[in-house]
Amino acid sequence: MTEIILTEEQRMIREVVGSFVRKEIEPIASRIDEEEKFPEDIFRKMGEFGLLGVLLPKEHGGADAGAVAATVVIEVISKVQASVGLSFGAHAVLCANNLRENCNQRQKDKYLPGLASGKSIGAMALTEPEAGSDAMGIKTHAVKKGNEYILNGAKTFITNGPVADVILVYAKSLNIKDQKIPLSAFIVEKGYPGFSVGKKITKMGMRASPTSELIFEDCRVPAENLIGEEGKALNMIWRGLNVERITLSGICLGILHSCLDTATRYSMERRQFGKPIADFQMIQQMIADMSTSISAAHLLVYYAAQEADKGRRVNREAAEAKLFASEAATRAALDTIQILGGYGYTREFPVERWMRDAKLMEIGAGTSQIMRYIIAKEILKQ
Ligand SMILES: Cc1cc2nc3c(=O)[nH]c(=O)nc-3n(C[C@H](O)[C@H](O)[C@H](O)COP(=O)(O)OP(=O)(O)OC[C@H]3O[C@@H](n4cnc5c(N)ncnc54)[C@H](O)[C@@H]3O)c2cc1C
Repeated sequence: MTEIILTEEQRMIREVVGSFVRKEIEPIASRIDEEEKFPEDIFRKMGEFGLLGVLLPKEHGGADAGAVAATVVIEVISKVQASVGLSFGAHAVLCANNLRENCNQRQKDKYLPGLASGKSIGAMALTEPEAGSDAMGIKTHAVKKGNEYILNGAKTFITNGPVADVILVYAKSLNIKDQKIPLSAFIVEKGYPGFSVGKKITKMGMRASPTSELIFEDCRVPAENLIGEEGKALNMIWRGLNVERITLSGICLGILHSCLDTATRYSMERRQFGKPIADFQMIQQMIADMSTSISAAHLLVYYAAQEADKGRRVNREAAEAKLFASEAATRAALDTIQILGGYGYTREFPVERWMRDAKLMEIGAGTSQIMRYIIAKEILKQ
């Protein structure tokens, strides 16, 4: 496989996470999917192990290792259990990294140590029942009253929603008139009055990653929990989405690797017509396509991560990486099922889980259609 060259630190992270995942996650990977159980104990252990703070500053207990390293962590976890990779991403990237990038010192001192250690679990809430792809159309709103903001509205599809202690919430600021889309970002703690977890959402895949609605009914948020300037969170959302799209593409890489390993091993062992099915060229074609898409996805994703780490604007690179990696992962999972024949269709092999998990990646953090829209827009404006 064609690979970018990782630094010594990134290679070490890959090895350490690999041994953690083999010991702690692999033995329960299928069971937590079947039982739709979020492995909270393992999540806390990931904190003790130093994984949850991969993107956080060292002064707050993090590793300050950057987007490439975060992608490595998500890839290695997702090779074994993609929904743990997704919940990890929602915590460490969607919540913690956005707080790191945008909070003031007092807010960082208050929230980042808990997120790095796993004492608190993080989530990010943007999507609403009537505003998904059109995220600017959100209706949840915030009005300042004294030294509090009062939030009203509902969010949906929030990863880690049922278990989160700290939630980064986007809302429209009704008092701000000088911004076309006056979005603001707030830190909401689960115990704040007026906040509640709504319906838990049952899903086709990513079943060990809990998803729910979040409800804000006159939810009182201290004014000091506003992130940055009121009504000016738009750039924060766009920048955050790029890092999210890149690092979460690590989920697709993990699934792609598992598919290729399984497809290769099985096709060499399984005999039909007196020979291994790997001898048949139509099987070889699927394996060749899978290997090629792993190399291509790997290069796209890690190139985008490297550019993001250099502080470059990566709208097109992030969208291309996520678009290609997610569609390649779904294709690879379907082809691996095909190679395993009837066994691939059973629940005795994890391939059907990889297919269910991979499909989410064509939807979450922006659908494939929205990725294509972003890429075309970037090209056409050049
Ligand atoms: C398991 C899961 C976890 C998630 N986690 C989070 C989370 O933690 N936080 C969060 O805020 N959100 C989260 N989401 C929400 C996710 O980002 C949205 O589902 C996604 O952005 C799509 O929005 P939608 O589901 O409302 O689909 P819609 O926007 O309604 O799209 C429906 C269809 O229309 C297409 N479409 C829409 N607009 C266009 C257009 N302009 N051109 C062409 N086609 C278009 C879409 O591509 C799609 O095929 C999660 C979703 C899932 C399923």
